Amino acid sequence: MKMKQTKYIFVTGGVLSGVGKGISAASIGAVLKARGLNVNIQKCDQYLNVDAGTLNPAEHGECFVTNDGAETDLDLGHYERFLDTDLTSSSSVMSGRVLRQVIDDERAGKYLGKTVQIVPHVITAMQEHIENAAKGFDVHIVEVGGTVGDIEGQSWIEAIRELGFRLGYRNCAYVHVVYLPYLGASKEFKTKPAQNAVKDLRNAGISPNVILARSESVAPDIIKNKLSLYGGVPHEAIGLLPNAKSIYEVPLSIANQKIDEYIVQHLEIKTKKPNLKQWKQLNKTISEDRSQSVKIGIVAKYLDNEDTYFSVIEALRASCWSQKTNLEFDWVNAEKVEKDGVQILEKYDGILVPGGFGSRGVEGMIMAAGYCLETGKSYLGLCLGLQVAVIAGARRGGLKDATSAEIHPSSKKSVIYIMSDQKGKEETGGTMRLGEYKASLVPKSKVAELYKNTKVTERHRHRYEVNLKFRKQIEKGGLVISGQSPDGTLVEFIEACNHNFFVATQAHPEFKSRPTSPHPLFVGFIKSLKNK
Ligand code: GLN
Repeated sequence: MKMKQTKYIFVTGGVLSGVGKGISAASIGAVLKARGLNVNIQKCDQYLNVDAGTLNPAEHGECFVTNDGAETDLDLGHYERFLDTDLTSSSSVMSGRVLRQVIDDERAGKYLGKTVQIVPHVITAMQEHIENAAKGFDVHIVEVGGTVGDIEGQSWIEAIRELGFRLGYRNCAYVHVVYLPYLGASKEFKTKPAQNAVKDLRNAGISPNVILARSESVAPDIIKNKLSLYGGVPHEAIGLLPNAKSIYEVPLSIANQKIDEYIVQHLEIKTKKPNLKQWKQLNKTISEDRSQSVKIGIVAKYLDNEDTYFSVIEALRASCWSQKTNLEFDWVNAEKVEKDGVQILEKYDGILVPGGFGSRGVEGMIMAAGYCLETGKSYLGLCLGLQVAVIAGARRGGLKDATSAEIHPSSKKSVIYIMSDQKGKEETGGTMRLGEYKASLVPKSKVAELYKNTKVTERHRHRYEVNLKFRKQIEKGGLVISGQSPDGTLVEFIEACNHNFFVATQAHPEFKSRPTSPHPLFVGFIKSLKNK
């Protein structure tokens, strides 16, 4: 039987980076999924890193982790939340991964003495990554990172150009996302940068089928005439995407402008009209008036870039929507807690300590966890947030200089330590405990009650573990170990007894939370703040 032809949508960006290509690609995917199509999505990045695991989160944003343990770009988080699907490592490819494979093949003699070059060898390897990820899907969306015209992105652009040529006109759609600046002095939107961005794409041999124009405010519809004439695409193939109140409005905006309709017609895909009920409901919930608010202090170290904890914030938001309450949160610099004391946390209904690495600020996080343990203030700890809570518990249980081997590598009081199979791998990529692992929860514990289950799986990204040698002191401090790896060697969840809400996990539950099905730990946390 002949395999069905997968249709491809290539999403590129022009004028500047950060125009919202990821949200645009995810939104197109969401609307096509709402038409009943089986959609996959992939991000191809120009970085020479092999994966996102070693990138600085303060610079690059959150490192998102898939079930199969890939450390990826934060766009994968958008994709999973918009498409409500679990992706794999094949959905995130960086140039470094492709180049390493080509060079390894060269060393292994696979090129039989030929000169190895960007064209055709690297380009072919890139196309293999794309086509392998596309197999079995009706539609495969490929977002190319960066801006067209960047030296480092040229290989990916050439790869999608050749691929489109080989697959044929009706099997590929090129969507170019550009930026429309607004000039306050003359009160007009300017299309010239967008026109030039389309020219850059044509210079690379690709004519766009669709242009999506991002702007800060709503551009008048006549702007489409100019973009159509000078961009060389029909009027109905232009979508205007002004800043939305919520990113979850973008799928509706795409559908309202019938961009999905244009794409499926171009690709000759027969589908039903999109069923957007869920998206409409979600947006209605988001924009509802809510009288109640919860105020959360997020005690962390990476504070310069809001994207660093994108999935954490999305999980909090979705939980608040489900609980009909407004979310207010502050980033609290952990070093400031250390310096100024825990009283700066008094004004918050609850404290959240998210993941993190290194020793800076950790003492402030331990103080924050200890303060919540002592006073009954709600606490949610994620990964590092569990480790600092365990240290706070052990100190309270009498082990005064309890610490983590990440802060004091040679301490004998490391209640958080490094397991023998991780020793010596501290600085390298891809060596942590990554991806989905099972945990068994203690029946009737808070976490079992929240999950409504005693068998759960969560995604991980960490190197250090709770040292069970100190279990007695940790428990004496008021904590119980409420979830462990099925073999009982690793601690996965802890909670405080006789406390309003004090729950922490070694995992990253935020990666599994979705806008319409928020994660139960986050929902439990928000509920505890409402019931104060
Ligand atoms: N730095 C800690 C570890 O490696 C916590 C990691 C995290 O919070 N993701 O175990």
